[in-house]
Amino acid sequence: MEDCLFCKIVAGDIPGEVVHTTERTVAFRDIDPKAPTHVLVVPRDHYANAAELAAADPQATAELVTTAAAVAAAEGYADYRIVFNTGAEAGQSVFHTHLHLLAGRPLTWPPG
Ligand code: AMP
Repeated sequence: MEDCLFCKIVAGDIPGEVVHTTERTVAFRDIDPKAPTHVLVVPRDHYANAAELAAADPQATAELVTTAAAVAAAEGYADYRIVFNTGAEAGQSVFHTHLHLLAGRPLTWPPG
């Protein structure tokens, strides 16, 4: 999709610190990390949010989660948090589905 930041990272048109790729996903480090490990896992195809992706492509949705687990394991973490911000009021600022993987520090609940 034109003018989508994460589509451009997936395509390699904008640099991203990619840590893992699969057939359907790309995982790269968040530019403004909120934990020692803060990785975004995105589908290669453009959908606005997690629910839209799940409705259209359940396999890719599952692959976001299995990719997050693989990245957490590779970085040495058994405990981690995964988050899908959905909608501006919930903190979503990039409208290409992305899973936040956060690990490496104690994570309190509830989040802000
Ligand atoms: P959200 O606010 O849930 O939509 O998450 C978007 C995330 O994208 C934020 O955590 C940003 O720090 C991150 N972000 C924005 N631009 C980039 C970029 N060029 N490379 C990596 N992460 C980015």
